Amino acid sequence: MRRGTNEKHPLPPPGQVFGRWTVLGVDPPTPAHCRKVRCRCSCGTVRSILWLNLVYGGSTQCRKCRAVLERERYEWPIKDPRLRLAWRRRWNSMLARCYRKGERAYRFYGARGVRVCEEWRRSVHTFLRDIQKVAGWDRILDEPLEVDRIDPCGSYTLDNIRLVSHTENNGNRRDCIFVRYKGSRMCAEAFRKAAKLKMCKCSAEKLVASGIMADQIIAMDPTFARGPRVRRGECRPSP
Ligand SMILES: [Zn+2]
Repeated sequence: MRRGTNEKHPLPPPGQVFGRWTVLGVDPPTPAHCRKVRCRCSCGTVRSILWLNLVYGGSTQCRKCRAVLERERYEWPIKDPRLRLAWRRRWNSMLARCYRKGERAYRFYGARGVRVCEEWRRSVHTFLRDIQKVAGWDRILDEPLEVDRIDPCGSYTLDNIRLVSHTENNGNRRDCIFVRYKGSRMCAEAFRKAAKLKMCKCSAEKLVASGIMADQIIAMDPTFARGPRVRRGECRPSP
């Protein structure tokens, strides 16, 4: 047996592939203790690689290809620096809400079992790449859009998020009580605006919460508009 090889790692036949390397042949055995194998990278570069480096995966491609890969890996998926910063901040606060116990909002997120999907948690790059598939992702600098989870008990995953305005987002809270109006389900505030009610926000909320139907609330609107029947101090006049 020649030095540098053994039965465990016999020298490779030409044509064998290691990553991007394809074996061309074995170099002349000098010096004997470091057998090298001549390989061609998929980009065409031909190099002699230390045999054991190939066997143990220490080398899978030429330096040029490796450099290209690294550059791609560290290139930000979002080019606009302002937009990217905005999304990185959101990524940060999303993780904080879900995993950092000291965070103020943790009790509403992490403590309730809301998680961030593993790919996003591990890499902000993946998050930035995926978020571009969500409608409105490039408008967050112009409009105050919030990341909303469609299923409020679900986690942050690409399928479960959308971008909505603050009012819409509050309409999807767990504690929100809904009313059916004109065929769609909406929260009290959205209903009040849609039906152009004159009563104040908290009267509408209370009526919706007590389970009264939409058309009945509309019929009761004039009485509530004159003098709110809720306790003093709890009610602010409607704008
Ligand atoms: Zn290469």
